[in-house]
Amino acid sequence: MSNGKDVDGPIPYARQWIDDDDVAAVAAVLRGDYLTTGPVVDAFESRLAQQVQAPYGVAFSSGTAALHGAYAAAGIGPGDEVIVPANTFAATANAALYLGAKPVFADVELDTGNLNGNRLESCISRRTKAIVAVHFAGLPASMETIHQVAARWGLIVIEDGAHALGAEYRGKPVGALSPLTCFSFHPVKHIATGEGGMVVTADQELARRLRRFRSHGITRLRDELGSDDGGWYYEMQELGYNYRLTDIQAALGMSQLAKLDRFLRRRRELAARYDEALADLKGQIRLPGRRADCLSAWHLYVIGLRDDGDGFRRKQLFDHLRARGILVNVHYLPVYRHPYYQRLGYRAGSLSRGGAALSPGPFAAPLLWPDRWAAGAGDRCPAGRDRKDLPLSWSAALREGGANWR
Ligand SMILES: *Cc1c(COP(=O)(O)O)cnc(C)c1O
Repeated sequence: MSNGKDVDGPIPYARQWIDDDDVAAVAAVLRGDYLTTGPVVDAFESRLAQQVQAPYGVAFSSGTAALHGAYAAAGIGPGDEVIVPANTFAATANAALYLGAKPVFADVELDTGNLNGNRLESCISRRTKAIVAVHFAGLPASMETIHQVAARWGLIVIEDGAHALGAEYRGKPVGALSPLTCFSFHPVKHIATGEGGMVVTADQELARRLRRFRSHGITRLRDELGSDDGGWYYEMQELGYNYRLTDIQAALGMSQLAKLDRFLRRRRELAARYDEALADLKGQIRLPGRRADCLSAWHLYVIGLRDDGDGFRRKQLFDHLRARGILVNVHYLPVYRHPYYQRLGYRAGSLSRGGAALSPGPFAAPLLWPDRWAAGAGDRCPAGRDRKDLPLSWSAALREGGANWR
């Protein structure tokens, strides 16, 4: 399959792993009756929800659509404020804007990049409706504190679990912790469907709202209909979208999901090898933060560089690693720093109300690569092809740089 090739090429920061059984699963759907949402989407929803111990799963056409659906199901609307971490992908905040709500960027912990529970309350106003936790790089946020703050102020907690399929907080999977949790199946995430996403929930009413929202706001369920004109009858009850996942994509998702445990195991092994390879660079770079009560899904292995004001070290290290074929990325430019958000009036100083809290500078983030490199110690990749031991290349490149990255 495609996984074994290009062993000597540049190493992308993330890539899907596709096997013959994935291809066969998709082909079987192509030969069948349903191309768009059909029985395979149903099966994928049940299977993924079961995996994360949530009673309901509602598939969407992307992780971003899933966030939009979750925020809408939570009742977020014009004038509401939604607290999101500053350190996330823009979609976490954009979904609030789609609904006419205002994202309020909260400070994050320096070592994990996750919401800083102690700073949350300074972001709350009369208009605050929800807190969105992002489990940055796969490590669950401090959910107990977040839930406590939310309960105190009557807010709903939504999790953007795009990095965290398979992560655990105090022994419970991400997906079983809050009223609404969103996942993404973009190819850089743990499992791929091309584009795709899902919201999981324990609340049947929220699940119903999510289903209507993803399909034009239309329902055919008899107990949801305002009147009953027979079998043909359906109603559009609110403004919805066409955010449906297809059976073609769901077939890939089912097949990928069967490999999730293997993917996760491999990511954890890789993280341990990075730890080992980078251990003696601790004085120069910041290694990923840990929490004793969390099991990370290791979406990314993120190192931190000291912010020297002009981002010089970051630029230098980025170029240095790229020149060696290690295609790192920066996660993230804090969302409020994007020109669009700047035009909306967001400034670094406005991060937390009442506090001058700043988000740390973006991190350089090389990723665990669960694909061809990851196969090094496994059955697929012949010995000797382990040339690109990514943690070792990383560590060597950092050393070669000779600069003090921190
Ligand atoms: C990937 C990602 C999304 C969006 O998911 P898509 O499937 O690409 O739409 C949202 N939030 C975070 C944190 C992500 O990493």
